Amino acid sequence: MPSRAKRFISVRPLNGLSRSLDYAFPASQTHDHPVVGSLVRIPLGRRTELGIVIALDVEPELPPARIKFIHTLEQPFPVVTPELIRLADWMQAYYASDLASIFEVMIPAAVRKGMRPQQRRALSLARKATPEEIAELTKKAPKQAKLYAFIQSQAHLEILPRQKVLSRLQISPTSADALVSKGLLKDAVLSERREAYEDALAESEKVATKAFELNDEQATTSKALIEAIRENTFSRHLLHGVTGSGKTEVYLQAIREALNQGGSALFLVPEVALTPQTVSRLRERFEKASGEHAVVWHSHLSDGERYDAWHAISTGEAKIVVGARSAVFAPLRNLRLVVVDEEHEPAYKQEDTPRYHGRDVAVYRARLNNAVCVLGSATPALESLHNANEGKYNLLRLTKRVDKAQLPLIHVVDMKGEWAKERRLVEFSVLLKEKMRERFENGEQTILFLNRRGYDSSLRCPDCGYVAECDHCDVTLTHHKADGDLRCHLCGFENPVPRQCPKCSSPKILYRGHGTQKIEDIAAKILPKARIVRMDTDTMRKKNLFREVLADFRRGKIDILVGTQMIAKGLDFPNVTLVGLIDADISLHLPDFRAAERTFQLLVQVAGRAGRGDRAGEVVVQTAMPHNEAIQFARQQDFDGFALEELEQRKEFNYPPYRHLLHHIIRGRNREKVAFFSEQWAKHLEEHLLNDFPGLEIRGPAPCPIERIQDNYRFQIWYFTTNVTALVARLQKLRKEFPWDKELIEVLDVDAVGLV
Ligand code: ADP
Ligand code: ZN
Ligand code: ZN
Repeated sequence: MPSRAKRFISVRPLNGLSRSLDYAFPASQTHDHPVVGSLVRIPLGRRTELGIVIALDVEPELPPARIKFIHTLEQPFPVVTPELIRLADWMQAYYASDLASIFEVMIPAAVRKGMRPQQRRALSLARKATPEEIAELTKKAPKQAKLYAFIQSQAHLEILPRQKVLSRLQISPTSADALVSKGLLKDAVLSERREAYEDALAESEKVATKAFELNDEQATTSKALIEAIRENTFSRHLLHGVTGSGKTEVYLQAIREALNQGGSALFLVPEVALTPQTVSRLRERFEKASGEHAVVWHSHLSDGERYDAWHAISTGEAKIVVGARSAVFAPLRNLRLVVVDEEHEPAYKQEDTPRYHGRDVAVYRARLNNAVCVLGSATPALESLHNANEGKYNLLRLTKRVDKAQLPLIHVVDMKGEWAKERRLVEFSVLLKEKMRERFENGEQTILFLNRRGYDSSLRCPDCGYVAECDHCDVTLTHHKADGDLRCHLCGFENPVPRQCPKCSSPKILYRGHGTQKIEDIAAKILPKARIVRMDTDTMRKKNLFREVLADFRRGKIDILVGTQMIAKGLDFPNVTLVGLIDADISLHLPDFRAAERTFQLLVQVAGRAGRGDRAGEVVVQTAMPHNEAIQFARQQDFDGFALEELEQRKEFNYPPYRHLLHHIIRGRNREKVAFFSEQWAKHLEEHLLNDFPGLEIRGPAPCPIERIQDNYRFQIWYFTTNVTALVARLQKLRKEFPWDKELIEVLDVDAVGLV
């Protein structure tokens, strides 16, 4: 082989290898050379793998002649930063995840696929065709004639995107090229702003950004954050601010400071789609007002948009990223601020491999970047509050709503009393109906909230006791009246509604319980003239529909919005003066030690949607357990009181936040096998781990609360510890050695959030 001048680089393969290898690339290559963070394809064993360039111009360990050349330079720009690689290593050790899957969530598929910057091209008229030329085209090349005629008719437009025009007219690129070579059309590369920044629909939900002065609490809080950012070291802050206290404004001030310092900022929200107002406020403030690019990272981006966005972030063109969980990996340079809004939200936890918690990864990332991390919520997670109590997080508080707005008045209605009065299980209390009518007559808006989709929650036979259950999961099927079927909310299984009991043929089958569909129906009976729209995952399948609905609601075209938790978050509608929580007990009955915490959070967040304008809001909470502590504390909006009580109980049982919980699930189609191997594994741990791992407590194995999902039987084991990484390291080793049955799947979920 002829000798070529080589340069050596160190590459970290993305296939899970946790060290780097040396590779060569031709020194003569002048353009498109790798930098630290570039994505390369490398030969590895018999295969080729993707890898990240870790270092340039290294002294190779092997003799230079034996070092292989890289295959291709897939992405010359740095697709990840060095800190992100360290973050991946930490995630592997903490979340017991394999590195390959971590890199998979870290680097978008569009980037890994070796996509290139999109070259958007535009067609325009080069010269006018003569009548003879047109006649000739029409006869011999009708497609070209059609294209030419179209471009000519649109000559008043400056930009005619080539691809759009061709696909709309259904004309092939060769026809366009032919016209270009005849000198009739011009074909030029466009260099306008890319679409990843654009968001036409955002206009529809624009929030008037009236200028206001920060109130005293906001000023103090912003100042604390601004000073922290100026210090240029890692610090963590918990911003506990009641709903409507102006937290977003405080974040925006902090982002401004991060940019002023020449840095960048990451803003995480539980779900971008549900926080259109936050996104549009950010755009108003930074893009429209001062021209800084913000990337909005969400699930509806096309591959091209995703690629463009990643490129813009990594090159420093975009300095602000707003997005959900996975945006925590955006390769922002010189990251100075990480905001995690609604930090208590379970949505930050990924329930798939790698099972990371976006909030906690955000904190760790801030640490690696010497950045400031702010976690914000009206109802902080007890884990975060505990960290603040321990002095790990700096606690900042906003105790008042802005603009002297009052916190809503919360009525708790005992539904047992209503049912006794009406002698049946009514869905609406007298009080709620009365208040709904009042609001409608005053031209004010109402939100009705129920955390259950469908029409009725179950179907039963009064004669034989039959209950319609999923064929594949241990849950009842929900009746979806609109579609005429019974559905499983866990696996999607569907059955047509039976006319009679499938077991005893009794025609008396009964529907029980209620879902959002039924609530919508009943609300329409109470107020036949009201405009009512339901918002849940059944009605909001269509992309962007929810935004249209929210925009209509904002414009006052809807009187009553009925929905699931989808509508409980971050929305701010000044004309909503009534919120009804139809059934506060659903979350209380969850088989989860966080049930009380979830219920409290839900109530406070839902109540927070009421009375944001100058009119006071009211909330009607319907429950069969009016004296429950979570409900009573929420009624008083007493977070401190609730937290104190709940933390005491957690401490008594030594539950999180006092220890970490690792949830181990073992599942398979054969129940005996699952049970047997779970027992064996637990015994194995007793012999090989329990005695020499201080502070470890193991509970189980036991069947999961929902034992069967999608025909898989599930058993669980709980591990409580104060030292996660040490335990994970030991467990990983033991898991590898243990002779699991091949048919079983076992998953370790660190800091588990969903426990059913
Ligand atoms: P939170 O996120 O704490 O629920 P927001 O930041 O959404 O509250 O603020 C609620 C509303 O109050 C928003 O419409 C916001 O524009 C407005 N607002 C924020 N700060 C002020 C202020 N100092 N004076 C007047 N209005 C404000
Ligand atoms: Zn029956
Ligand atoms: Zn099912």
